[in-house]
Amino acid sequence: MVTALPELVPFITLWSGERRPRVPVVVRHGGIAYPRERPGDRDRFGVLWQRMVSCPGQGRPNFGAVHARRQRTAMLRLLCQVCGGPSDRTGEGVLWLVPTATLDDEPDPLITAEPPVCAPCAARAVQACPGLRRGYAALRVREFRPAAVRGALYVPGDCAPVQVQAAGIALDDPRIRWVRAGQLLMGLHRYTPATLHTL
Ligand SMILES: [Zn+2]
Repeated sequence: MVTALPELVPFITLWSGERRPRVPVVVRHGGIAYPRERPGDRDRFGVLWQRMVSCPGQGRPNFGAVHARRQRTAMLRLLCQVCGGPSDRTGEGVLWLVPTATLDDEPDPLITAEPPVCAPCAARAVQACPGLRRGYAALRVREFRPAAVRGALYVPGDCAPVQVQAAGIALDDPRIRWVRAGQLLMGLHRYTPATLHTL
């Protein structure tokens, strides 16, 4: 997640008032499920998601954590992860800030948990935090699609499914039916470097 700006809590940041209800999972149809599923428990890919209370602004921001629903919404609707408005889009593509370390091997696709950003937020972020310039690279992305989720992976147990690890699981991996997702990961396929000071 892009570092917080002074007096600005990013749209996707989790607040201490946003507790995750403890909901057990059961085995159903060769995967995990909630005993009584509600609309919104699964996404368009059929993946089960962590239930979360949504009340941004309540309590204290936890800058190291993201709110599952807002992160997924920002990713799918291409909202700026900082202000929640539309992300920046030009003929060159949608604006993304990604950790520079993820670019080392020129991955194709580049898999990221970072939703895109708008130009003012990207410029403010870099101005407010020079470290961002070193830690993050700006990209214009022309082609992207949901690739995976990050969440809790379960295996069948004697009485109930057992959580074994936190994992990133591709949407086409059969284990996707055994994940309770907390973040959507996007695959960035065609991207070019963008220069932040020209935004
Ligand atoms: Zn913004």
